[in-house]
Amino acid sequence: MEYSIKEIEELVKTIEEDKKELDYESFRKKHTGNNGILTQYLKKIIDIPNDQKAVYGKEINSVKEDVLNILEEKKKLENTYYSSKKIDPTAPFDINSNKDELQKFFTLEGSKHPLTKEVEILVDIFSSMGFDVLESRQIDDDYHMFQSLNFPKGHPARDMYDTFWTEDGLILPAHTSTMQNRALKSFGPPPIAVVLPGRCFRNEATDAGHEHTFHQIEGVYVDKNISLGNMIATIKTYLEKYLNAELEVRIQPAYFPFTEPDCEFVISCPFCNKAGCSTCGHSGWIEIMGCGMIHPNVLKEADIDPDIYTGFAWGFGVDRLTMIKLGINDIRYLRSGNLNFLRQF
Ligand SMILES: [Zn+2]
Repeated sequence: MEYSIKEIEELVKTIEEDKKELDYESFRKKHTGNNGILTQYLKKIIDIPNDQKAVYGKEINSVKEDVLNILEEKKKLENTYYSSKKIDPTAPFDINSNKDELQKFFTLEGSKHPLTKEVEILVDIFSSMGFDVLESRQIDDDYHMFQSLNFPKGHPARDMYDTFWTEDGLILPAHTSTMQNRALKSFGPPPIAVVLPGRCFRNEATDAGHEHTFHQIEGVYVDKNISLGNMIATIKTYLEKYLNAELEVRIQPAYFPFTEPDCEFVISCPFCNKAGCSTCGHSGWIEIMGCGMIHPNVLKEADIDPDIYTGFAWGFGVDRLTMIKLGINDIRYLRSGNLNFLRQF
């Protein structure tokens, strides 16, 4: 193989570019890793004709020295960054990760988390159906978690939710229904159509199907003459849009203090068409969410007259829906921060 000075010039040009663009680890991998560009050039010396070996060796070794110097410089910069950086653990994420500052040290390659993407897709579907959107809070009070939802003090159903409490008596929402009273008040008087996406927390042991933290989207619809039929049609419509499948649906009894009647919404499995598969636990059907007609006490608490208006509400876990849609079999992956997992989406 002939030695060509042009090739080495190309290599030097790439190195100069990468020196500006890449952080330590990406630069190291690209140039001196097992399959690195420089590594390949160094291996090539065996194939260079004997009369050109000396020149080639000299050139490539000088490039190698430059690369090692660049790596040393980058390592120093990163060490300086880490040792000088004080992180405020209570601050929002972007305060601890100033983009301009980080860019001096690292290559910033980011993408949206699969859950964020799915929440956006779902919210788009609801918007197209005429729903307003109000994000839920990540810390709330007893009134919004329980009292406004027809769980008076001492109500046994309060124990259905493994609620986290702060020392000051505040609550990490165990469901996004915490927003129902606020939504009914701020979007009222009816007609009201609003979805309430947000993060929920429960003090429970984690396994493939359970997490202490998850996302929910609550929906609330109130107007004159609203029936269970409107609820079934609405939920069926957005699920079919989201899962891009025609679904058979049914409802079965459940219990929630804030709805009457209370239902569990069940859909035919979109993957096996009711034949039975691992996603539906070989039953052909998937219980997808709780829903029901809003309890008259909940409407009254939000100054809506239940003799004039009726409405329905639902709450589903975005994680569960995302898992069904993307074929993820363990909910814990979603918050693991495992890049090999996240890069698949
Ligand atoms: Zn199935």
